[in-house]
Amino acid sequence: MSNHSGSYMLNDVLYKLDELGVFKVLGEDKTLEFVQWLCEYTEEEYDTNPGEILDGIGAKLKICYSCLERKEDVNEYGLCKECRED
Ligand SMILES: [Zn+2]
Repeated sequence: MSNHSGSYMLNDVLYKLDELGVFKVLGEDKTLEFVQWLCEYTEEEYDTNPGEILDGIGAKLKICYSCLERKEDVNEYGLCKECRED
């Protein structure tokens, strides 16, 4: 049983950070580093779910919730082409 409310709380925070332009300031590499840390750390510590944390915002930031890499082909469901085919 994963931590759905915690995951969606982080999703809200990511949307707000995006709205404030934080990811533009950070740039793509630091944004990726932050998102990878957020997903991996909170999944380990708080049983969150990367698919929920990155719901919608993953596609916008072009970060796949499965491989947690930046990909040009992340679809509306948050998966890159490679992960869709797995
Ligand atoms: Zn992927």
